[in-house]
This record gives sequence, structure tokens and C-alpha cells, in this order.
Amino acid sequence: MKIGVLALQGAVAEHIRSIELAGAEGVAVKKVEQLDDMDGLIIPGGESTTIGKLMRKYGFIEAIRQFSEAGKPIFGTCAGLIVLAKNISGQDDAHLSLMNMSVSRNAFGRQRESFETDLDVVGIDEPVRAVFIRAPLIESVGEGVEVLSTYQDEIVTAREGHLLASSFHPELTDDYRLHKYFADMVESSLKSLR
Ligand code: GLN
Repeated sequence: MKIGVLALQGAVAEHIRSIELAGAEGVAVKKVEQLDDMDGLIIPGGESTTIGKLMRKYGFIEAIRQFSEAGKPIFGTCAGLIVLAKNISGQDDAHLSLMNMSVSRNAFGRQRESFETDLDVVGIDEPVRAVFIRAPLIESVGEGVEVLSTYQDEIVTAREGHLLASSFHPELTDDYRLHKYFADMVESSLKSLR
């Protein structure tokens, strides 16, 4: 099972390490052609405006939409969550426009630019260690989207079928259980696509 990490900008090596801890093969994806070999894809944190620009420049918008259309799972973390969303608060344009939710960038305010906490996540037994860095939050979710975790009443993890998104960086700790959760999504999609 191969899980790609979109390697245009951001925390790529850390995601690959977490994927491997979760028992799958992690691959840095720099070219659209590589997507054909991937069973799942992670869009990492970084700067969503920059990632979006580079995605447009290298043809990733269409290619990832097709990847999603084929039912292959995608996991967006932090800026990756913003890139997945159908609506970005205060902006006219979204990027991939795949996930039925509205998100707000840099939503935790200046004094809380970065922090760590333990979060209850639906589907994972014990709380997950979560690192938030200039994190977005999910303001609202539409039909078909399940909320998996909240922090102080704000939605920070959600899933819509084969799409998963977290406001925080699960790749910056040794806690790889959210990657394992995603790897399980990829495994079941492989079974149903076979
Ligand atoms: N603040 C960034 C953005 O709006 C996201 C930060 C991150 O990915 N750590 O794109």
C-alpha cells in the first residue's frame, strides 16, 4: 500500500515517517504522474496560498480531483485542510473544493499561534496528541461530513467518506494513530475498488 505526500511545500518528511510507522509505504509526490501509483494522498501543512499556487502551476488541481473521483482517500492536515475545503472564509476562491465544509484560516488568534493538546477523536481509543500551528478551524460542515473531534467547541477534525481533514499537525509527534486511521481508510478503499 503506497501513500503519497504532496511535496510542493511543507512538512513532507515528517508525514512519510508517520506513514511508515503506521505500516504503509510513504512516497514524496512531486509530479502529477506519480499519483497513478498512489493508493492514498496526504496534503501537508505549510502555507495554503503557496501550496494552492504551486498546485495550479503543476497541474495538481485537476489531477487530485480525478484521484478523489476514483474514490482514493485524501488526508489534508492544517494548510492541507484549507486546500481541501469547498469554502474558505473571507476568500472568493477555494483550491481543490472537494470537502463539504467552510474553514477559517489562522483562526486561533495571535496569542495562541501554536499550542499542543490531547484531543478525543471519534474512532481512536485514547486521546491523540495534537500540535496546532497557525491553525485553521472548520467553521461549519455540510451534509455527509462527520465531525471527529472538537477543541473548545470548534471543529478540528472531520471526515467525508474517503476525505479526512485535521486542523492540527499529526506528523509532528510520535503519535501516529491518525495516520493509522488514514491507512485503514486507504486499505478499505483498496478492498472496495478491487
Ligand atoms: N496558516 C496557514 C495557512 O493559512 C496554515 C498553517 C499550517 O499549515 N501550519 O495556510
